[in-house]
Amino acid sequence: MKKKHCIIALVCLLCLGICAFVLLRVFGNTPEEPTLPPISPVLEQASQGLNGYTVTLKLDADAHTLSVTEEIAYHNTTGDSLSSLVVRLWPNAFAAEDTSPAATDELFSAAYPNGFSSGFVLLHDVKWNGKAAAYRYLDDAKTVLEIPVDTLAPGEEGKLYIRCVVQLPNCAYRTGYAGDAWMLGNVLPILSVYENGAWRQDPYTPIGEPFYAECANFSLTLHLPEGYVPVCSVPLAETESGVWQGKGLALRDVGLCVSPGYKKATFLAGNTKIAAYARDKKGAEAALSFAVNALETYESLYGEYPYPLFSVCSAAFAPGAMEYSCMAMVDEAYFAENQRDTLELIIAHETAHQWFYSLVGSDSVNQPWQDEALCEYAALRYVEKRYGQSAFNTLRYYRADAPMMERVPGGLTPATPIDSFSSLMDYRTIVYGRGASMMLALDMFVPGGMDAFLKAYVQEYSFGIAGRESFENSLNAYAGKDASPLLLDYLDTKINE
Ligand SMILES: [Zn+2]
Repeated sequence: MKKKHCIIALVCLLCLGICAFVLLRVFGNTPEEPTLPPISPVLEQASQGLNGYTVTLKLDADAHTLSVTEEIAYHNTTGDSLSSLVVRLWPNAFAAEDTSPAATDELFSAAYPNGFSSGFVLLHDVKWNGKAAAYRYLDDAKTVLEIPVDTLAPGEEGKLYIRCVVQLPNCAYRTGYAGDAWMLGNVLPILSVYENGAWRQDPYTPIGEPFYAECANFSLTLHLPEGYVPVCSVPLAETESGVWQGKGLALRDVGLCVSPGYKKATFLAGNTKIAAYARDKKGAEAALSFAVNALETYESLYGEYPYPLFSVCSAAFAPGAMEYSCMAMVDEAYFAENQRDTLELIIAHETAHQWFYSLVGSDSVNQPWQDEALCEYAALRYVEKRYGQSAFNTLRYYRADAPMMERVPGGLTPATPIDSFSSLMDYRTIVYGRGASMMLALDMFVPGGMDAFLKAYVQEYSFGIAGRESFENSLNAYAGKDASPLLLDYLDTKINE
């Protein structure tokens, strides 16, 4: 009997050992990745009636090309009869040094370490409702593509089909590749904004962000070389080896970065999955914790984030960092271990763009303060909430008070259009710094403070576009007094001349 018990015990131990081994192999010793939360009713509602993009992309890493097939289901909600649509082809700006936003004196050596490299769009097909369209470019840089549509009355719909190949430049920028980092931001042909009886045709300036778009729904299929990992505004799942698919609702644009070298960290915060991607696990985990803290802070201040996914990734991006709907790319230099404080501030600023730029769209060409200054202010609030008054005061001095005292070229204010700036440093001082100063002044002026106003502002304009007038009118109504002279002082008054 004794011997029999021994054998049974040994068999049980063996079984337990095998089970433990299998479990460890399957799950490792890290927690399981959270699944993507379902679409929120707010997002579902916001997506109704928006233009729809159905896109297939294929990256050829050896040829440095991205094949694009895109169909836009367009619904004329402009209120005007249209004779043409205008689509932006931003990668064409990279064709020559004199139009590339990355070829300025300030950026060239960081963006083009191997010398200038040309990027452009080869257009193969443009069809309107199934018929070849006689398209033409309206600018020398070929970023403004006009497609005639006969007459499209208000309320009418049609289908625009575009097939092209984007030749990617060797460039550490929003669109390009550097080492094994592929930045595929602003590569999709995207509808321009029709306002005041005309389509916007802003140039791709090297300073500021000329991207101005209405929310739309995107259905994306992405073909990547095996082992490459995408980070995208659209939540993607790998449906077969190297094929990624997903749908993104009510996005202002699609950001996309790809690399075979990404390590990933994820966390479920409320109804949003947050993902961070970097070259090493430690970097991904650090970025993840900053993104989680920032998103949770802003949700408590400015209202719930309605999207199921927010991602932050390392990229090769000479100017520093860039926001897209549901994602942000940050230059990999800031993922170094001795750069953690800077990385946290960058992620705090970029995450704030999810509210001020993505949820509430604004004219980032003519009123660049309206997203940048609000994000700087939000980042200050983030620091105050996480690290207290003294940390807030220190940062306030560097990011808002000092810029008021710096000498910069006369004639520039936070409401100067971005094409009037010629230095990134001046742009930061004026639009970010002096803009943040205005927000802090308004915080004293508005009863209850600016956080409560901004929460109401987000609620009022979510998924839409708020012009400066909308901001000003809402602010005056909320404050119950006229803030316009204060805005005029900070936004339009030239100092240091
Ligand atoms: Zn920004």
